[in-house]
Amino acid sequence: MTLLQARYDLHCHTIYSDGTSTPDELFTLALEKGLKGLSITDHDTVAAYKEALPRAKERGLMLLPGIECSAIHRGEPVHVLGYAFVLDSPVIASFSKMHSVRREERNRKILSKLRKLGIAITEEELRGVGSGTLGRPHIALLLMQKGVVDSIKEAFGKYLGEGKAAYDPGERITVEETIDTIKKAGGKAILAHPQLIGKGRIERDMLTMPFDGLEGYYARLFPDQEEKWIKSAEKLGWIVTGGSDYHGTVKPQNPLGSSWTCQETFDLLYTHYLSHQKQ
Ligand code: AMP
Ligand code: ZN
Ligand code: FE
Ligand code: FE
Repeated sequence: MTLLQARYDLHCHTIYSDGTSTPDELFTLALEKGLKGLSITDHDTVAAYKEALPRAKERGLMLLPGIECSAIHRGEPVHVLGYAFVLDSPVIASFSKMHSVRREERNRKILSKLRKLGIAITEEELRGVGSGTLGRPHIALLLMQKGVVDSIKEAFGKYLGEGKAAYDPGERITVEETIDTIKKAGGKAILAHPQLIGKGRIERDMLTMPFDGLEGYYARLFPDQEEKWIKSAEKLGWIVTGGSDYHGTVKPQNPLGSSWTCQETFDLLYTHYLSHQKQ
């Protein structure tokens, strides 16, 4: 008899950023899917953890502290996952605060660009569609609700995607600064979904940065799409994590548990997390 290897989905979003599940709903689904644990990696915030930590414990799930940070490299967006840092680290708190100020300013600019295109969305309306980190996915939802577009994809394709009429990069926070912050908070920095970068120059630069690992297993990629990155990680001595990038009903193509991290890598990260508490 072969026992199914334990699986940990280390890339999940909740209502604290642009996901549709509460932490508790996420845990219910994780148990249904047979996951042993997960990490909540909301965009630029750890706000979910206050309620998530005690609930995960009650429900018998391992929960690894995580965050997905938005960064810019040579004008291109790059996502950096941070894991196993000190959850209440002041470094993380001030970094998140900086991101929330950056996002407020950026969202204001995007709404102003949309207004110039004849599409009126107020800041109040935007605040009404989310309870945590607010960004382009929330604006896309409002564009859909107002009947301006038929889908989130169309909203990005016509208005919000890089280079489109209402796009604004916002204040640029670099990958280097992001990695440095995660490490200062005692965490491990992982290059998120490198398969989505798609630009050779950026890919090559990322492999020279002081990451601890990369997210080699992502969503529903085919093994041949993952292979290149797993080989790169091996060469660099980086760890390889995996996750679904679960967002709930707004991204049904990324079901929870569709990619995962193995026991050995999870143990390495979790042991690192616990080591902060023993000091
Ligand atoms: P933001 O952090 O505000 O720049 O928004 C980035 C998020 O928007 C990403 O994490 C994706 O979840 C989502 N996103 C980016 N591009 C697209 C797209 N073309 N279609 C749908 N969602 C997208
Ligand atoms: Zn997202
Ligand atoms: Fe991402
Ligand atoms: Fe994500």
